[in-house]
Amino acid sequence: MPTDVDAERGRLAAGEPEAAPAAAVPMPSRAEAPPAPKASYVRKADILKYGMTAGCPGCTASARGAGTQAHTLVCRERIIGSVERDEEARVRLF
Ligand SMILES: [Zn+2]
Repeated sequence: MPTDVDAERGRLAAGEPEAAPAAAVPMPSRAEAPPAPKASYVRKADILKYGMTAGCPGCTASARGAGTQAHTLVCRERIIGSVERDEEARVRLF
């Protein structure tokens, strides 16, 4: 029959891991990382790597060597998302 004492003991046991010196564990802190130049625009190299986005004037202009045109939101999200995933994967290798 469960008593208040049992419940209390269970709570204490569950609380123990939190009492462990978490500060001693080296945490991969993103907050401490220097403000790396986060991908905020699509580079030509990224288009070459991830491919053009259909219907994106920026990609079309880049492929034609016709100067710089704005990329569509869909394009930026796709390519920048790919870049960020790759960069995160690369960081994890270390
Ligand atoms: Zn584009």
